[in-house]
Amino acid sequence: MFENIIGQKRVINSLKKDILQKSLPRSLLFEGAPYTGKVSTALELARVLDCEKTDADWSCNCRSCELHRQLVHQGLLMLGPRYFTREISATADVFKRSSRLSSRYLFIRAVRKLTRRFDSIIWDGDREKLRKAGEYLVEMEEILDIIQPGRPLPDAEKLDIMIEKVVELSSVLSKYIPKGNIPVSQLRNAFTWAHETGNYSKVLLIENADTMQAASQNSLLKLLEEPPPNVYIILTSTRGEVLFPTILSRLRRYRFQERTGAEVKFILKRIFHEDSENEHFNFSSFQEYFRLWAPIQPGILRSQAKNFLKNLARSDWVFEIDPKIDGDKEAVLLLIRQIADFIYSPAEAESIGLELPSEKVSHLSRILSNIYNEIDELNIKPSLALKNLYYTMKGVI
Ligand SMILES: [Zn+2]
Repeated sequence: MFENIIGQKRVINSLKKDILQKSLPRSLLFEGAPYTGKVSTALELARVLDCEKTDADWSCNCRSCELHRQLVHQGLLMLGPRYFTREISATADVFKRSSRLSSRYLFIRAVRKLTRRFDSIIWDGDREKLRKAGEYLVEMEEILDIIQPGRPLPDAEKLDIMIEKVVELSSVLSKYIPKGNIPVSQLRNAFTWAHETGNYSKVLLIENADTMQAASQNSLLKLLEEPPPNVYIILTSTRGEVLFPTILSRLRRYRFQERTGAEVKFILKRIFHEDSENEHFNFSSFQEYFRLWAPIQPGILRSQAKNFLKNLARSDWVFEIDPKIDGDKEAVLLLIRQIADFIYSPAEAESIGLELPSEKVSHLSRILSNIYNEIDELNIKPSLALKNLYYTMKGVI
């Protein structure tokens, strides 16, 4: 068990010990920087908990393990936002370069992390929203069925076309997943799922749990207070401390260490099959590596965020939005994150000519967080949203 999790020895040893001693807590929080293996560990834990064998090797041939390896086990429910398309594009690239079985699993699992967010139980009562997504999902399932492990792969040319199609469908589908919150309705549905009987262990995985707004956190609290038998709840977060103390007090916290440069290189080589001669190998963090597949490159994002903030010092709105950002909701959300990053960093803010005392910073960060959720949930035209943001921020500065 856990043999594919690289690093994080402390967390893994503690989980293993608890599993063997049957003292694993029912509610867990995996905290740590992005790309430190929190979700991989949670998914592996879900597999181990339901494996029919005590040693639960990764390659175990029990039925439950095969379903978990492909992330299609009904005892797993996944909620919360993540960077779906980035991971899917990166793993698509790996799968195109190497059609070995591990690359196939890597790609399919990345895609499943997205498609499992469309499990019908999650959207119960809210299906109307998914009417259009349904067609894309059917198309996606058809391709996933062809490329699933155990089946002979189509020839390279056909396979490339299929992989590209999956990437394209993912980018459309990921827009349906709320980014700034986990809706109360979804948590209530998860509650129903948790209480349904089933002769298997269930794991509810809530990623980026810190994005939950107050009502959603209260809704989750009900489940944490009395988890039904055989149900484990795993939250992941890069900043767990923003969760309500009432929630934190019910979770056992596991801290994931930042990846070392050597670990990053090891994973790039072993999992992503990057050639050590390749320039990708110079990356010292996964943030940098995955940015290769971001909808907009970091340089453009930084210069747009700087121009936006410089514009605040002027009396009129003269900001020109890059057309690549204007047409893409995820890119706009990234731009707002970048603006927030500049505001949080006194040195960056000063270099742009903004002097911001801390009370202004916290006021501005609330404004940015509100606009982020508005753009995410309502379909406001990005250029219009940015203009509104400009006037609201100007009122504070
Ligand atoms: Zn097994």
